[in-house]
Amino acid sequence: MWVFLNDRFVPKEEAVVSVFDHGFLYGDGVYETLRSYGARIFMRDQHLARLRRSAEAIGLTIPIPDAQWRELLHESMRRNEVGNDHVDAYLRITVSRGEGEIGLDPALCPRSTVVIMTKALHPSPAVLSRDGVSLTVAQTRRNLPAALSPQIKSTNFLNNILAKRESIAAGTFDSLFLNWKEELTECTISNLFFISNGTVHTPALDCGILDGITRAIVITLAEEEGLPVKEGHYHLTDLRQAAECFLTNTSMEVMPVSRVDAFPIGDGRPGPLTRRIQARFAASRHRFLEPLAP
Ligand code: PLP
Repeated sequence: MWVFLNDRFVPKEEAVVSVFDHGFLYGDGVYETLRSYGARIFMRDQHLARLRRSAEAIGLTIPIPDAQWRELLHESMRRNEVGNDHVDAYLRITVSRGEGEIGLDPALCPRSTVVIMTKALHPSPAVLSRDGVSLTVAQTRRNLPAALSPQIKSTNFLNNILAKRESIAAGTFDSLFLNWKEELTECTISNLFFISNGTVHTPALDCGILDGITRAIVITLAEEEGLPVKEGHYHLTDLRQAAECFLTNTSMEVMPVSRVDAFPIGDGRPGPLTRRIQARFAASRHRFLEPLAP
């Protein structure tokens, strides 16, 4: 595996970062996860824009000029022999505060650390999409936006890891977070949707969630399907009464949910509107891919 580290590609064994990096010491950094379909990256500019927004929110300089990202991501896929006709690519960009003396002041770190890691993207097992996945409602609450906004895609991922530990202990696919007001928010790496009486519902951004790129596409596609979409403030009782539920993220796309704790969603099988949205997503995703290289 070849890893881009700061200014060049190095073999995986040489891709090492200092123990003084504030990403390691304090979780002081931001990241993005992207994917390709074949050689074309999905929503590339939107992911890069969100990376910039996250960095700006923590006052972090990204030392790579905007115009270079496209070539770097593609070189990373080429070197790792992914993102081609045979295998899709999973790409992760990490930008940390960089190496500096111990202490919280970002000025201690003169240069951010930039890493691009790329590997084969293995789609979720077909059985999950066929039968739907189960969720645990986490005891851990989603970060309070005024304390650490979920809109910052931060390398400080402990909030999500604590909730993930709960779902692992419960033997479920993932955990669903409530916020400080007991409202539904999102899962550890995905956004939440549910369908009631033919309307597609999803928690509003101000519930304290990441503004998922797949979430935005699914809202558009559901509306194109003629389904009303509402972004709102919801509780567990709304979800338990829902007919259908699904999750969205870049690598999973649209994943049906069949159970939340002990409660089946609908009849405990992925529902027809979820299937329609999945099919529309599959048929439309070419619209959201970068153009082929000239
Ligand atoms: N919510 C959280 C907490 C995430 O970490 C992610 C993706 O990593 C998402 C939602 C989905 O975002 P996207 O659709 O942009 O991949």
